[in-house]
Amino acid sequence: MYQIIDGKMISTQIKDECKERVAAYKEQGIDICLAVIQVGNDPASSVYVNNKKKACEYIGIRSLSYELPEETTQEELISLIEKLNADDSVNGILVQLPVPKHIDEDIIISTISPKKDVDGFHTQSVGALCIGQPGYVSCTPAGIIELLKRSNISIEGKECVVIGRSNIVGKPMSILMLRENATVTIAHSRTKDLKDICKRADILIVAIGRPEMITSEYIKDGAVVIDVGIHRRENNKLCGDVLFDDVAPHCSAITPVPGGVGPMTIAMLMKNCVDSVSLT
Ligand code: NAD
Repeated sequence: MYQIIDGKMISTQIKDECKERVAAYKEQGIDICLAVIQVGNDPASSVYVNNKKKACEYIGIRSLSYELPEETTQEELISLIEKLNADDSVNGILVQLPVPKHIDEDIIISTISPKKDVDGFHTQSVGALCIGQPGYVSCTPAGIIELLKRSNISIEGKECVVIGRSNIVGKPMSILMLRENATVTIAHSRTKDLKDICKRADILIVAIGRPEMITSEYIKDGAVVIDVGIHRRENNKLCGDVLFDDVAPHCSAITPVPGGVGPMTIAMLMKNCVDSVSLT
């Protein structure tokens, strides 16, 4: 029988811990404030932004909302970020990605002060992660480490395969697993013999962006499978990168979609906002 890793429950635990820490800071007269910037009105981005604002409200963080029109120029966005960088009452700055095509995402990310980079995307945050220094860690991979630890799944010495090498998920995920003393293999779109490589994994982390691509043929018996993918099917139901019903019987533990990795991302964003008090 396999264990279903309950991201909904674990994310609530983390948000409740954040809530307590925020209350304790308030007693010391310290308020935490997150600035959330959205450019354009992509419906998916609006849903994410609203969920982030709701989470702030739940844990007692003040959120400032900047909803800018699609035609906002890169210079205008940079000048807003610079204003927020200089504002001591703002702890964290988040620009919802993707930004419209006429704006260079890399330039925007590097404009955010590393001290306020609660998404953990700035090169300074990524560099600190790589050499094991304190700093903000990208929320989805950080959430996966929490899922594993709080489900009592040991990482040290395990063979871990991460499929996907994006800057937001795959790469930071691999570094975090290395930091936890796993033996890590990164697989990607040019990897040969993907099935054989995945079959070595005690812990398989899938962040490919292809609906239900991973079947039981990729799974070693007893593996732990973490599904980062999220897709909406034609029948409007959500699915991941893993074919759950086929894969689950071969696992010792697996994350569902929805209710697995998804809820952890916002919980870890909240944790980064609370951590900002001690990181700055
Ligand atoms: P991405 O498109 O930036 O990266 C996908 C990676 O998968 C690439 O590195 C690519 O090399 C690899 N890949 C693509 N096809 C492959 C193949 N056939 N075989 C092996 N590797 C292949 O995506 P991303 O931003 O890393 O996100 C991955 C998935 O996770 C998406 O479904 C995304 O929606 C989801 N996601 C979920 C959350 C969450 O909070 N749950 C957060 C971020 C991303």
